[in-house]
Amino acid sequence: MSYVFEPAAITAVPVAGSDSLFPVRRIYCVGRNYAEHAQEMGFTGREPPFFFAKPTDSIVVVKPGETVAIPYPSQTANLHHEIELVVAIGRQGSDIAEADAAQYIFGYAVGLDMTRRDLQMDLRKAGRPWELGKAYDQSAPIGPITPLAASGEVNAGRIWLDVNGAKRQDSDVRKLIWNVNETIAYLSRYFELYPGDLIYTGTPEGVGAVQSGDVMTGGVEGLGQLSVAIR
Ligand code: MN
Repeated sequence: MSYVFEPAAITAVPVAGSDSLFPVRRIYCVGRNYAEHAQEMGFTGREPPFFFAKPTDSIVVVKPGETVAIPYPSQTANLHHEIELVVAIGRQGSDIAEADAAQYIFGYAVGLDMTRRDLQMDLRKAGRPWELGKAYDQSAPIGPITPLAASGEVNAGRIWLDVNGAKRQDSDVRKLIWNVNETIAYLSRYFELYPGDLIYTGTPEGVGAVQSGDVMTGGVEGLGQLSVAIR
């Protein structure tokens, strides 16, 4: 048997400090996972975490030292940046205990959960799924994955984003409402996790609009930084 057309390429993210690639299986994202971001989105209090997903091929790999240009997406007039810590899963598991969660982490990366905010808000208001706002093409830029063996567990550290050199987001990973281990444990009750899964863990406060020509530079302490321009 043969395929009726060439299968899509495997999406893969470089592993820092090696020639190896991390093949991506799924992309899970956590919503409203920093208190001050939840507030700016109109919510307060600690709710159970909630998740949405992006298609694997929404990944845009950004290598250190380069600026990758992504298009201003269609059908929006309010494109927002969300800088996030991304967790890369390296082991299969479901119903993972919080205390064991770190054993399932392959490594970490810096990612951007780019968002058509106007569409997301309209969909939210209507009680509809967020895909058109969140899961669009090239909506998930990501830097190289730093293996856990090199970084240690990332439960704290500055997370920040500048636009054209001006500060937009500046917080600390320790302010995650649901920390990495809690997030892995919770998500694994609903989906069996596999090597290749990525979890975008949520963004701190300071989200805002970007325009064509803007350059976003952001990072997480210990994991490097990435630079993405809007065409
Ligand atoms: Mn997000």
